[in-house]
Amino acid sequence: MKYIIEHMEKGFSEWVILEYAQILRDVGFENLILTSLPQGTTQDDIPDKLTQLGLQWSTKDVTHFIPASTPRSRLCLLDPKAEKDLEPSDKQAFDYFIFGGILGSHPPKDRTGVLREKLKCPGRRLGELQMSTDTAVRATKHILDGTRMENLKCIDYPEIRFNKHEATEMPFRYILDGNGRPILPDGMLDLIKKDTERTLDDFF
Ligand code: SAM
Repeated sequence: MKYIIEHMEKGFSEWVILEYAQILRDVGFENLILTSLPQGTTQDDIPDKLTQLGLQWSTKDVTHFIPASTPRSRLCLLDPKAEKDLEPSDKQAFDYFIFGGILGSHPPKDRTGVLREKLKCPGRRLGELQMSTDTAVRATKHILDGTRMENLKCIDYPEIRFNKHEATEMPFRYILDGNGRPILPDGMLDLIKKDTERTLDDFF
């Protein structure tokens, strides 16, 4: 278990499910735990897609989940406000990499600050722009596998165009795939299109 996501959203929205599902595919279910689910959560409350991918979860919050024998100095909070960027050598320095299970807002609200206060552990940044949680986990994995942050091929605030008339800007930094396209969770493009159409319907 290497990656911990402290769930900080209410429930499981479609966006959150797609992000968590992609993280599970990227890092493997054995390397991830989702902490801080509401007390009383049962397996039936976990979305099928995440259960099928083997999601491990806990109602404990991250501070109670981590064994008391692990010193705070071995925990790394991925924090957009940290002073140092994550480096490949940090793989040896830390046992757990912790992320906020937060859907980003624009401008960013620093909800990661709640974790900063709670954990009081070292923090590392992944560049100066906010990433979606799945992108942050993907970037962390690449860096721990040896690629420096500055060598990750990224795009900032990409425009997702559906047709001549419809486009939406994503206010995040994304990693690019081999074809130069931003990597989004499977199913996210369809969901964004659906949400855009809903917003337009509400507007007219
Ligand atoms: N603006 C948001 C906030 O309220 O803090 C950022 C949330 S971001 C969508 C979700 C998580 O991804 C963060 O809690 C953090 O763990 C990680 N993350 C995203 N961008 C990051 C960056 N540039 N550096 C370090 N961690 C980042």
